[in-house]
Amino acid sequence: MTSEVRNTVIGAGTMGTGIAQCLADHGLGVKLFDVDPVALDRALDQMSANRRFLLEAGLLSPEMAGKAPQLVQTTSDIAQATSDIDLLFEAAPEDLSLKQDLFRELDQLCDEHVAFASNTSGLSITKIASATKRPDRVAGFHWWNPAHLVQLVEVISGEHTSAELIQHLLTLARSLGKRPIHVQRDVPGFVGNRLQFAVFREAMKLISDGVVSPQDLDEAMTFGPGSRWSLMGPIRTADLGGLDVFHSISSYLWSDLSDATSPPAMLSDKVEAGQLGAKSGQGFYPYNADELGEWIEQRDKFLVGLRKLTENLSPDDTDERKTVPLPR
Ligand code: NAD
Repeated sequence: MTSEVRNTVIGAGTMGTGIAQCLADHGLGVKLFDVDPVALDRALDQMSANRRFLLEAGLLSPEMAGKAPQLVQTTSDIAQATSDIDLLFEAAPEDLSLKQDLFRELDQLCDEHVAFASNTSGLSITKIASATKRPDRVAGFHWWNPAHLVQLVEVISGEHTSAELIQHLLTLARSLGKRPIHVQRDVPGFVGNRLQFAVFREAMKLISDGVVSPQDLDEAMTFGPGSRWSLMGPIRTADLGGLDVFHSISSYLWSDLSDATSPPAMLSDKVEAGQLGAKSGQGFYPYNADELGEWIEQRDKFLVGLRKLTENLSPDDTDERKTVPLPR
């Protein structure tokens, strides 16, 4: 087991906390940096709570739960965070100019062999990398929330990312218990968020047009397409349904689907009124703290159950599965 600290996570918010935890839970030493020392304390508390949950769920051994906390070092000293490392995960706020300024600074501080992996949800990896003198050593490594439970990781090639770095990141992700995919072109939103937002755009249209209530729309997804998509995505679903059938439906339906290029008034009005969803107590549904806690607990238990149900499902690819070293 490698416990030497060769990894750094920048940003100790929602995502950085889960990323640092996942690395440590798999025996990797990690430095966690944030400009805000309060975020670092909050991150350590959250990791302890997450570990108690993983232990109870049987996804973390008691031995590792004991060792992992010692593998995380928190710091608000950027020089300390960037010294003697090989790989840096960036999980700072989703703002292109902030990320470019940060990468410019990190590029000056880090040894030239250090690779940078951005957790951006969909900003251009090529543009982020352009702030550095090492664009071949910059890639996207997009974790999904909650990072300690969701298995998808998108590994994204920017225009100049080396193939060796991509192979290293794919094998690293697998060694962390993740199910990585390679996004071969740096398109906005990558793959996961493009799928998610294509569905969200149509959901907004159906509700705005008075076709269905928000509650019934969610029921339709949870007990309809969503119930199959966890096991087989839209492509295998189409194979099983029959491509001739999917072709016929596509030919009359696609022209009627939403092609909106901006959010509907219904959504803009909510945001303007401060109805921001669970965090403000009201979105499409009302929330109090207890209800929110219950939804998060149900979601996390569901993700654990799903992981156990799908653990024998091997990916449909023939990729080499042995560890690929970080290129130097
Ligand atoms: P967050 O707001 O919870 O955390 C961001 C952290 O970065 C904060 O603790 C903040 O103090 C710190 N920070 C701000 N400026 C910084 C700087 N210059 N250097 C270092 N740290 C700095 O945000 P988050 O939700 O964790 O998102 C982080 C990244 O992950 C974003 O790019 C986001 O799009 C992406 N992401 C978020 C989610 C999600 O569901 N929240 C999912 C996948 C990807």
